[in-house]
Amino acid sequence: MTSPQDAWDTAYHQLELQLDGGKFDTWVRDARFLRYEDGQFVIGVRNGFSRDMLQHRLYRNVARVLSDAWGQSAAIRFEIYSLGGTASATDDSDLPLFQVLNEMQAASTEMFRVEPLPETSMADRVVPQAYAPLSESELNPRHTFDRFVVGGSNRLAYEALQAVVEAPGRNYNPVFVYGGVGVGKTHLLHAAAHICRKAGKRVIYVPSEAFTNDLVNALRTRTTAMLRDKYRSVDVLIVDDVQFLAGKESTQEEFFHTFNVLHAAGKQVILASDRPPRDLTALEDRLRSRFSGGLVTDISPLELETRMAIVKMWQLEQHIRLSDPVVQMIAECAASARELEGAFNMIAARVRLSHQPMTADAAARILHRLETPRNHVRTVTMADILNAVAETFSVPVDEITGKGRTSRVSLARQVVMLLARELTELSLVQVGDYLGGRQHSTIIAGIQKMSQLLAEDADLSALMDDTRRRLL
Ligand code: ADP
Ligand code: MG
Repeated sequence: MTSPQDAWDTAYHQLELQLDGGKFDTWVRDARFLRYEDGQFVIGVRNGFSRDMLQHRLYRNVARVLSDAWGQSAAIRFEIYSLGGTASATDDSDLPLFQVLNEMQAASTEMFRVEPLPETSMADRVVPQAYAPLSESELNPRHTFDRFVVGGSNRLAYEALQAVVEAPGRNYNPVFVYGGVGVGKTHLLHAAAHICRKAGKRVIYVPSEAFTNDLVNALRTRTTAMLRDKYRSVDVLIVDDVQFLAGKESTQEEFFHTFNVLHAAGKQVILASDRPPRDLTALEDRLRSRFSGGLVTDISPLELETRMAIVKMWQLEQHIRLSDPVVQMIAECAASARELEGAFNMIAARVRLSHQPMTADAAARILHRLETPRNHVRTVTMADILNAVAETFSVPVDEITGKGRTSRVSLARQVVMLLARELTELSLVQVGDYLGGRQHSTIIAGIQKMSQLLAEDADLSALMDDTRRRLL
């Protein structure tokens, strides 16, 4: 049996091979195995910034590699350690952004290739057991209403939430905000939470996956009564990324009742999702109809002017002066606010380091490098596909590659076949090898079967989309 230390060592070397763009050097190299405790790997990191990065952006990557090395699903908790032994002495999570960026720059120039931020690399797409619901301190203090630039695309959502925080539970209930990745949903939710807390309300903000984890833990430790108390005694419950409730029946059940209790008591519920309630196909009807029962509002992709206004706000905040053409260039190269942040940080870091104004030419050169990763399609491996399907369809990998032929296992296996053909360059024979040495005719038949099923079954097709999104 592999010891936790050995599993970590193996994973560490794997990560060194797998992580690109200086990520390993910047975030993982100093990470140390500290101990294995309560079913979790406790990994020491150098500072708060690395911890946040690992917890929020790289969790999925690290957990996957570690699970492979460990031979079973691995949960990780990151803790700050210092070589001198006094914990948190080196915690620089409160350093101003520019210092952190400078440190990043020093650590690796490569780091400034802004991540394409595929959905899969973000922790909010992950269900780590170690992911406690965000507590008050973990609301991003920078996500406030006054730092939220309002334009045509987000005005309705902004105004809805403004109205709600004025009198929680009275205006619209629930409020459901939806929109693509990086358009500012989480920012708005945090902003609402800040205001309500300031007004003395009891507020819980929780990504839906953390809610699921809480529930799983409560069931395990037989503390569901406490869990209910916790969620049902608030004035405002804010649940982010509710699309991840899809397919999780017991969580939906629990959430449905929590929702009803709060709603009946006139407490405010605020929800965000990447798609409108009607498209949450793997959600029970009763929950979907609850979600649509108040105000549903979307944030569409931010217009160029809004993106430019955001960049202008950031440059003021960070005392960086950029010419209008450069501001425009940054705004043009990034579709979402999240990409915008990456592009802006890269330019800002350069300006600080060089102490020179940024010329349009230099900006164009820097931003050009962003294009590549953004258009770059991540290489998906067979292991990625197997893990993702195992997770979404709740069938262990060894069953997928094994001999079993129950309908659940066969279905998961066929999904793997189809995704392998779509997302990898592997031949059908190779795919067959990965799937426990199956014939290539079996793979063809599986793919055909799957394509047919997908055409008929909307729920399955949604699950499939979800899995695909996790991979890209
Ligand atoms: P989502 O939750 O929709 O994926 P986020 O709320 O995480 O998006 O937004 C991504 C980043 O862009 C955050 O840093 C956020 O502060 C910033 N952002 C998004 N929209 C705006 C806006 N209208 N004004 C200022 N910053 C914004
Ligand atoms: Mg979000």
